Amino acid sequence: MGVAGMDEKLGREIVNASSTAKLHKLERTLEQNGQLNEAVARAIKDRATELSLPSRKKVRNPRNPNWSRDELILALQLYLQRPGSPPGKHSKEVAELSQVLRDIGKVLGARGGDTYRNPNGVYMKMMNFRRFDPVYTKDGKTGLKGGNADEEVVWAEFADDPDELSAVCDSIRSAVRQYVGTTDLHASEDHWLTEAKEGRLLTRVHQVRERNRALVKKAKANALKIHGRLFCEACGFDFEKTYGVRGKGMIEVHHTKPLHTIAEGEVTRVEDLAMLCANCHRVVHSSRSWLSVEDVSRLVRKATS
Ligand SMILES: [Zn+2]
Ligand SMILES: [Zn+2]
Repeated sequence: MGVAGMDEKLGREIVNASSTAKLHKLERTLEQNGQLNEAVARAIKDRATELSLPSRKKVRNPRNPNWSRDELILALQLYLQRPGSPPGKHSKEVAELSQVLRDIGKVLGARGGDTYRNPNGVYMKMMNFRRFDPVYTKDGKTGLKGGNADEEVVWAEFADDPDELSAVCDSIRSAVRQYVGTTDLHASEDHWLTEAKEGRLLTRVHQVRERNRALVKKAKANALKIHGRLFCEACGFDFEKTYGVRGKGMIEVHHTKPLHTIAEGEVTRVEDLAMLCANCHRVVHSSRSWLSVEDVSRLVRKATS
């Protein structure tokens, strides 16, 4: 394909430039050689525009999202089955985990490409844990570089606590089974809710439970019946007492069961819900290790005594 005003070879070189960086390098060379005439400059500009547009291939095959913490937790569990030499790329364990991770993606409404959490990716991710593993590094081996910072955090939090790791993994897996095929967990968390150390999926399960209108109504009615009024179980704040009728019926509901104790198909019970004012509820969820209602209550007492 020839471009008017320049030789054919140069025209082809511009049109075939595979990246903006290469195109700019070519441009500089041409400029130094005094070959950058108007036609050449226009051809370069056209190719630069083309390169900046998302290509069709990219649209069809978007980038895979970073691994979330729950995904890393599951990969860690598999890695630790045989520390140092985890199941191989073609093992049934890796294939199974790959399927669970794809289901997590569906449950959370994540988008990815053709290679989204395929067995190869699962295996590579698992191998990223080796660099923290004393079993592996004791001979001076260093393991794969790279990966994301969460890998180290997940290793530090769970590698030495197999019981908690397996409880969290069981809860994640049961939540996946419960919600796969639904869009219940697609909505994102409230901005003030810090993702729990158990990961995004269980964090969303918590929020979905707290947002269950029928259950919230029942829990409030129950509290009213017992105490005759609504108040925060951590600090005692009573909206109606402070704001008058404008505060009537106001209170937030918090699900008190630890995330990793949520069993499959378990129905949320009114007894598991605590009444909290908006402030205390935010404090509960303000760090990755969520506080209990008692923790917050203790903080309030300490600060006001
Ligand atoms: Zn409160
Ligand atoms: Zn809550």
